Amino acid sequence: MIEMENVYKTFERKGIKTTALKGINLKVNKEDIFGVIGYSGAGKSTLIRLVNYLEKPTKGYVLVDGQRLDQFNAKELRVVKKKIGMIFQHFNLLESKTIFQNVAMPLILSKKSKDDIQRRVMELLEFVGLSDKAESYPNELSGGQKQRIGIARALASRPSILLCDEATSALDPQTTQSILDLLKRVNKEYGITIMIITHEMGVIQEICNKVAVMEKGEIIEQGSVLEVFGQP
Ligand code: ADP
Ligand code: ADP
Repeated sequence: MIEMENVYKTFERKGIKTTALKGINLKVNKEDIFGVIGYSGAGKSTLIRLVNYLEKPTKGYVLVDGQRLDQFNAKELRVVKKKIGMIFQHFNLLESKTIFQNVAMPLILSKKSKDDIQRRVMELLEFVGLSDKAESYPNELSGGQKQRIGIARALASRPSILLCDEATSALDPQTTQSILDLLKRVNKEYGITIMIITHEMGVIQEICNKVAVMEKGEIIEQGSVLEVFGQP
């Protein structure tokens, strides 16, 4: 579960202040695929980065599973961050590493045994349908395949939350559909809460049950997709 209580975020650069978020309140439940939609500059990335604690709120609170992130010490925060996986528009794979090594990275960093890593990575590659690509390099994969690997890597440390930052924006419609189908499976089969930021209405209508519409740092509407957008 993710909650935000009256969250503000102001950036200051060379004396110029930009308020990216202005009093955000939201609640994402465990079973949700929660979409955040808005134009470029609305504050979507800032919002999602606060959930991962890559940014700290200037004011207000972010809670994960009922606990305020600002109340954790560094060690506790590392544990919480493991609960949160993230995928990106441009996949962010390491080009010099094989697919296996990319997916294994979070497990290597958390010092899992070689056998555990081998088993877990192959299980994940199977789940995303790319077990035959273990020894390939990212530049040998299509965009859709790269995003599948991004998803496998994000799931490696068994998160309870998956954050998706414009995860299908670089993909064609057909590939987008297959990634959205995979995300639905992540949500249903593993019970992982999904939060998606996008500027694409189609993505929201295809997989989200809840949506928040952002404009200029504020949520101007929030509710079920049906309530907010009516019948498709
Ligand atoms: P979106 O993801 O909806 O495009 P962002 O969250 O990236 O919106 O940006 C919201 C606003 O905050 C923009 O005006 C942007 O320029 C500003 N902003 C975001 N990150 C920073 C930063 N690190 N420093 C200064 N301004 C920022
Ligand atoms: P095990 O300890 O045997 O792996 P679990 O109950 O942890 O059993 O999970 C059963 C299966 O579900 C695992 O083999 C794994 O593939 C998958 N799984 C469970 N949780 C996650 C998660 N957070 N991310 C990815 N896969 C998961």
